[in-house]
Amino acid sequence: MNGLLRTGRPRDACGVFGIYRPGTPVARQAFDGLFALQHRGQESAGIASSDGETITVVKDMGLVASVFDDGTLSSLAGDMAIGHVRYSTTGSSTWHNAQPVYRSAGEAGFAMGHNGNLTNTEALLGMVGLLPGILSSDSDLVAELLSSVSDGNRISHRGTPGDIPTIAATTQVVGEPIDLVSACLEVLPLLEGAFSFVIMDTERIIGVRDPNGFRPLCLGKFEDGWVLASETPALDVVGASFVREIDPGEMIVISSAGIQSLQPFSPHKIEPKMCIFEYVYFARPDSILGGIEVNEARRRMGERLAEQSSVEADVVMGVPDSGVPAGEGFARASGIPYGQGLVKNRYIGRTFINPSPNARADGVRRKLNPLKSTIAGKRIVVVDDSIVRGTTTKALVKMLKEAGALEVHLRISSPPFEWPCFYGIDTPTREELLAANLSHDEIEEFLGVDSLAYLSLSNLKLAVGGGQGNCDACLTGNYPIPVKIEPSSSRLQAS
Ligand code: SF4
Repeated sequence: MNGLLRTGRPRDACGVFGIYRPGTPVARQAFDGLFALQHRGQESAGIASSDGETITVVKDMGLVASVFDDGTLSSLAGDMAIGHVRYSTTGSSTWHNAQPVYRSAGEAGFAMGHNGNLTNTEALLGMVGLLPGILSSDSDLVAELLSSVSDGNRISHRGTPGDIPTIAATTQVVGEPIDLVSACLEVLPLLEGAFSFVIMDTERIIGVRDPNGFRPLCLGKFEDGWVLASETPALDVVGASFVREIDPGEMIVISSAGIQSLQPFSPHKIEPKMCIFEYVYFARPDSILGGIEVNEARRRMGERLAEQSSVEADVVMGVPDSGVPAGEGFARASGIPYGQGLVKNRYIGRTFINPSPNARADGVRRKLNPLKSTIAGKRIVVVDDSIVRGTTTKALVKMLKEAGALEVHLRISSPPFEWPCFYGIDTPTREELLAANLSHDEIEEFLGVDSLAYLSLSNLKLAVGGGQGNCDACLTGNYPIPVKIEPSSSRLQAS
């Protein structure tokens, strides 16, 4: 497990990319797109390409730039490709779980990349007649379902649409193989939870967003083709223009026939709930989500935080990277000068392997170094995006005080993180979440800060344009899709 990435923050769990450009080799653009999504997953990377007859998959553990080189990219022939970068949960950081996954289907095959986490894996395992433990990820399970129906099997299930299926169903061969689009239309309505998929056979690329749209997925366009990506900077880097976000519950099919928009889900299940933490922490600052630039949303969080919880101080600083725009916003609204007080090691990567508390604290020192000229003898406001376990924040505060800060006032640009995420973000259990277990005063004492304030939920929602269409379950406990709060042995690993 990656100690540096486990610096006490929730971790996003995957980025997906797809490109369809008839007559143009696309492997290098798929590489560029994945590189732009590297922040969404740093444990493994993979690309599947098709030349119209054969699907080739190259995937491995590691960063995009270490998995691919000229040789591997030139082996990825064809004018259509999908790609994937991945984080994983404990114990699942293996080559087998790197994506895209590949499955045979009839005489051909398909490849699939998944961002999200399913919440009804037990029921789905029953539908394919498998016991928990046979498949090692949600993505494997969906691929198995698609492969099964593509081969001509049918999956039947009892229950009304929208129920969490609770009864194992049967699989039986009833006819001829069906195509991938039909397989998706049959399988997708069975899935519960968070999922943005890119799926490809030798003729088409399919993009899907779950009915709540927990994880982002956008569509871009070339004069001669199309792109799907988790975030808009991956469109920019390949020179595609942004068309729109895929709607919650929408399935897009890209092929020689153009673009087709399908609605596989029952209309009553469609309820936009995109993860509000995409704005707070996960997404790149230059991403456009819900029509809002993430950097501007973070600045507004900082401004509202200053209006809500200002303090007498000499300098404001944001914790790199996602705390910086919120820090600038805080400075602008409070009138306290902004100063760069923390220097980030730009070359920090997937290097440290031990997730123990000591290792997390060491990770802070490896990643950040205080600028003593900005800090010594000053009362400082430190703006960060969130506190999860608190271990790294505590180490950061200690480091600032050792650098000579007279006072450290911590301002957090989101409300207390009290509940685990079940929708594709790797978070600790509730027992490990600082705000779920200590009072405000106890947290101040634990962290060693002179004061602590969080952005209120109402102000966070205002900063992201209202928040009506956003999930905030890790802040409120209001889960849009029912989940088991206790650690669940049935939950497969995040993708
Ligand atoms: S629970 Fe939190 S991290 Fe998970 S999807 Fe909802 S807002 Fe995002």
